[in-house]
Amino acid sequence: MLSRAPHTVALAFSAALITVPADALRNGSEPAARPHIATVSVGPDTRMLVIAPHPDDEVLAAGGLLQHLHAANGALRVVYLTDGEAYREGVQVEDHVASPTPSNYRAYGRQREQEAHAALRALGFGAESLTFMGFPNAGLSRLMTTYWSERRAAYRSPYTRRDRPSASEIVVADTEFRGEDLTQELALMISDFRPTMILVPRKEDQHADHCAAWFFVADALADVTRVHPDRDVDVVTYIVHYYSWLFEDDAPRTAPPEDLSGGVSGWLNVPLSRGELKTKRKALALYKSQMDVMGWFLNGFARRSEWFSRQARPNVTLPVRRSLCDSS
Ligand SMILES: [Zn+2]
Repeated sequence: MLSRAPHTVALAFSAALITVPADALRNGSEPAARPHIATVSVGPDTRMLVIAPHPDDEVLAAGGLLQHLHAANGALRVVYLTDGEAYREGVQVEDHVASPTPSNYRAYGRQREQEAHAALRALGFGAESLTFMGFPNAGLSRLMTTYWSERRAAYRSPYTRRDRPSASEIVVADTEFRGEDLTQELALMISDFRPTMILVPRKEDQHADHCAAWFFVADALADVTRVHPDRDVDVVTYIVHYYSWLFEDDAPRTAPPEDLSGGVSGWLNVPLSRGELKTKRKALALYKSQMDVMGWFLNGFARRSEWFSRQARPNVTLPVRRSLCDSS
């Protein structure tokens, strides 16, 4: 239940951000009071489930917060909905081919999986923390509408030509590229891992896979709550793709998007120390296939602040007739 989160988890406040301006000290004047800024707190009891539509989203959005989790001895599971395999320009560069074939796209997905392992290792987490679902990159929002149930053929990726995850990735028998199958697998993972906190993109994210991730997680949580009404989880959202956000300046600390509300929680800031920033950069650099084609984008997220928020529960039940996410 998304809307219950704010009532069950107290917001912590970051004392580190309440600083005394140096010139105020020099002048001997009273420093102006600065607003307290809410943050996301983690501890040894935190069990964090990160929903990453593509390998790299977890580090872009939360490479600092994941380090806080590791330092606190919390538990982590990152669930990658897709392998990020449908990135034509990336495949062209990696494989030096003008017209990638399905096998090029599949290989690219495997490469990104390996990079995810390396990046998470750099943040202190082993292979047990990563789960790859193998759903179709650039196809998730279609699963909320047309390709929901077995009343019609499953979605087939125009990139890999697959219509289901690979055998090793399937956790519920007979899973294919259908929305109800994705919800069912997610619900099982949430039930099994029993997260206290879920990080997921918010619906305003302009990448349709990210937006779809929000609705699928909400749908899966509704299923879990029906079976385990006593369980509660703190759902915290992040955003990666939003107009020119983060690229309007190169300040070491960022602000949240000006025209986007912080939802029911207001914006939550996670500050990174210089050392944590260095480690985040190192983890991002391990996504070599992405650095090769869009290093500027990844490095744009290597700043001394990460932004999160809590959103009201969406008032929709899947499937929906028309896509709730912009493209595809
Ligand atoms: Zn992504």
